[in-house]
Amino acid sequence: MSDCLFCKIIAGEIPGNTVFENDKVYAFRDINPQAPVHVLVVPKKHMDNILQCDAETAAALTDAVQQIAASEGVAESGFRLVSNCGRDGAQSVNHLHIHLMGGKQLPERMG
Ligand code: 5GP
Ligand code: ZN
Repeated sequence: MSDCLFCKIIAGEIPGNTVFENDKVYAFRDINPQAPVHVLVVPKKHMDNILQCDAETAAALTDAVQQIAASEGVAESGFRLVSNCGRDGAQSVNHLHIHLMGGKQLPERMG
């Protein structure tokens, strides 16, 4: 999608701070981090949100999360995954992304 911010980051048209990349998944640091570790994990193929995600992409995202948690040093201490979806979910970028946050004790409340 030519007008999608994250598609542009994946294509290298807008600089992203790359954390992880393979043929299906790209991960980069959030521009406005909410935690010491705040990585956005996205499929390279455009899909609006989790409602459009297929099983193969979900597996690739899970595998990437496991590798990134290890490389970012939060696999042992723990971390949070969030994927905002739609209006009430306060999704602001309409390209599926998983927030991986950690590196501090996160608040219990989420909503
Ligand atoms: P959402 O609110 O859709 O769940 O999350 C979108 C996230 O994208 C936000 O946390 C926001 O800080 C991040 N973001 C927005 N624009 C950019 C950008 O240009 N570069 C990066 N690295 N992150 C961005
Ligand atoms: Zn996109």
